[in-house]
Amino acid sequence: MSAQSSLSESFDIIVIGAGSGGVRLSRIAAGLGAKVAVIEEQYLGGTCVNIGCVPKKLFVYAAHYREDFHDASGYGWNAENIRFDWKVLKQNKDNEITRLNGIYRNLLANAGVQLIEGRGKLTGPTTVEVNGKTLQAKKIVIATGGTPNIPDIPGKALLKTSTDMFYLDKIPSSAVVWGGGYIAVEFAGILAGLGVKTTLIYRGDMFLRGFDEDVRQFVRAELEKKGIELRFGENIAKVDKVDGGNLQVTLTSGDTPVITGLVLAATGRIPNTAGLGLESTTVTLNSAGEIIVDNNFRSTCDSIYAVGDVIGGMQLTPVALAEGQALAHHLVKGAPVMVDYDYIPTAVFCQPTIGTVGFTEAQARKKFGKIRVYRSEFRPMKYTMNENTERCLMKLIVDDASDKVVGAHMVGAEAGEIIQGMAVAIKAGATKAHFDATIGIHPTAAEEFVTMRTPVSS
Ligand code: NDP
Repeated sequence: MSAQSSLSESFDIIVIGAGSGGVRLSRIAAGLGAKVAVIEEQYLGGTCVNIGCVPKKLFVYAAHYREDFHDASGYGWNAENIRFDWKVLKQNKDNEITRLNGIYRNLLANAGVQLIEGRGKLTGPTTVEVNGKTLQAKKIVIATGGTPNIPDIPGKALLKTSTDMFYLDKIPSSAVVWGGGYIAVEFAGILAGLGVKTTLIYRGDMFLRGFDEDVRQFVRAELEKKGIELRFGENIAKVDKVDGGNLQVTLTSGDTPVITGLVLAATGRIPNTAGLGLESTTVTLNSAGEIIVDNNFRSTCDSIYAVGDVIGGMQLTPVALAEGQALAHHLVKGAPVMVDYDYIPTAVFCQPTIGTVGFTEAQARKKFGKIRVYRSEFRPMKYTMNENTERCLMKLIVDDASDKVVGAHMVGAEAGEIIQGMAVAIKAGATKAHFDATIGIHPTAAEEFVTMRTPVSS
């Protein structure tokens, strides 16, 4: 590519990985006057843009239409002959991702960042080899992200990962989703919404470990209502090919094997550090394979830093962005690194969506002792004129001593949108009295967050 011919050999900062964290860091650092190169072997925008948040959300929208068409009948619409065409969705998704890749390319070019397309490999604390050339930098930042991890079981090669799900030639009539985290519940919702008979297999008693207990129970009931079969306390022992192109899933319980068209392993992700040349440096990894960094994102090798999923922590795009931004200021201007990991809101785009910020009820009880819990569960207005039985859950956790709201949890339509606003209030230290003094917007679901007056428990 043309960038190679103008390649300079020496930089202030070389970033390996043009995902969310790497691109943000490169752009900001270049804008502050540093000479920056970013090396990317695959696609601009990383997991989020190409095989994560963005295409996933597009698929979630697609999946929701099925229910929307159905719901519309209560409002007088006659939506007959509804058909879904996977190829159209996939093509339009690809077009949109290509558009976003172009935007990322322009952002880097306009910021004066040199993009080098190829695989970067460290050859020492300040050198990286790419496309047969050796580049030098005062500082090197590793922002290589993570990749899906499939447990070692017989038939592992037959399983799909979340990455594969974005490139399927066709969708099967039935699927098994293995795991109980973000990716498992999101894809179970997508598949079921697209009309695929979906079974989710999770090894523990209750999926979505780490989320508020009420939220977990509520989501369980809602997903079951949508026709997703949930099998908890169960695991996959092996997967075999059977006649007709199907797969046979053998369960550890010895229960009747499941015959299905596809098995998605949503069993966690591991950091991308293999083949990076770390052995030529003093960078060290923790037991999860994540790069160990200090509060300034500096690794155990003085000239090498790391941000984003490759250092573990909350694997969320906005977190990688915040880390990249803070580190850029630190490396170029010497500014203290300030990433505040408290009260990071998050959403799980299952259907209905989970939105959450702050402490779960159990965590808050442990941390604050006396708490007040406000809870509301209702049938959303939109579903009063059709047969949709989806319900909505809202929950506020208040530290009794300070009256501060320390947790807000929601399961329902647009929970991500609603909780984002709640997160600002909670981050600003809003008390329950502030919530009570806020006038609601009527009629909305969100107004429930400012009208809950009686604690359900304390
Ligand atoms: P998670 O860590 O969230 O979930 C992994 C799941 O796989 C868990 O339920 C885990 O069980 C199970 N599991 C792990 N190992 C095994 C095994 N050997 N056998 C059986 N089950 C196993 O990972 P995901 O891959 O879902 O997501 C990775 C991260 O990506 C998330 O933590 C999140 O930070 C981010 N993400 C964010 C999204 C968003 O913001 N909407 C969307 C998607 C991903 P157990 O609970 O028992 O450990």
